[in-house]
Amino acid sequence: MGKFLSHLVHLAHLAHPKFPNKGFIGTFGTFGTKVLIKKEKESKKKIVRAEGQNLLKLSRLLQVFGSATKNQEISEQQPPKDSLSTTIDQKRDEEYNRRKSTRKSIRCLRAKRIIDPIFYLPAFSRDKHRIIKWRMHWLPSYPLKNCRCGLPAAKREHYSICPILQPLLNKLLTVFGTIPSTSDELQPLDFIMNHLPRSEVGVTLERWPEVWSALIRVLREIDRLSHPDVAFDEAGPDPEDALDIAPPPHI
Ligand SMILES: [Zn+2]
Repeated sequence: MGKFLSHLVHLAHLAHPKFPNKGFIGTFGTFGTKVLIKKEKESKKKIVRAEGQNLLKLSRLLQVFGSATKNQEISEQQPPKDSLSTTIDQKRDEEYNRRKSTRKSIRCLRAKRIIDPIFYLPAFSRDKHRIIKWRMHWLPSYPLKNCRCGLPAAKREHYSICPILQPLLNKLLTVFGTIPSTSDELQPLDFIMNHLPRSEVGVTLERWPEVWSALIRVLREIDRLSHPDVAFDEAGPDPEDALDIAPPPHI
C-alpha cells in the first residue's frame, strides 16, 4: 500500500474512536489535501468531503473509501470567506500583532495566528501541562528557583545551556535537525514547537515521533530541575505510549 493511502487508512481509523459523530478532518500538507471522513455504520467510514489541489490524489482517496454519498464534494479551492469572517480574522490578526509588541511570550509563538497544535497533539495530561506552561512562560515557574545544577534563580534561557539538561537537549536537537540562529528570546524549544506538525497523524510520521517524545522528555527534566525541593520519584509513562494509534483496519 502506498504511503499516501496508508495515511488515509490511519485517518479513517481515527474517525471511529475519536470523533464518532462528527467525523474527522485530516490534513495532508504534502498534497495540500483535506478530507473529512465520517463514520456511517459501525465498521464503515466514508469520506463525505474532500478538497485540495491534487485531484489525482483525491480520486485515489475516493476509490479507497467509496464515493456514493450525495454530500460529497470535490473542489480545488476553499469557498471564499464572507466579509464578516474576513473582518473578524483581520481584527484578530491585528490584536495578535499588537500583543506581540508587548508580550515576550506571544513573540515566541508562531508568526501566523493559528490554534497551536500543542493543544491537541497526543501527550499525557501532565506533559501537556508542561508544554503549555513553557509556551506561557510559566515553566520554570515563578518565583524562580535555583536549578539543580546550582545556578540561582534559573530563567528559561538557562535551560538551553544547563549542563544537567544537555544530554536530553542534544538528543532532541539531533532528531529535530539544524536550528538556525534565532533571537535571544526564542529558545530552541520554542523554535521546535513552532514547527510541530498540525495534525495527530503528522506527529506519527517521519522524524516527528522521536522529536515529540524527546521534546516531552526535555520538558519533564526542566520541570524537575527547576523544582529542586520537590521529589520526582515517580517515573512517568513513556511519551511514545501517548502516540499509540490502533493499527489501521484491513482493506
Ligand atoms: Zn541548570
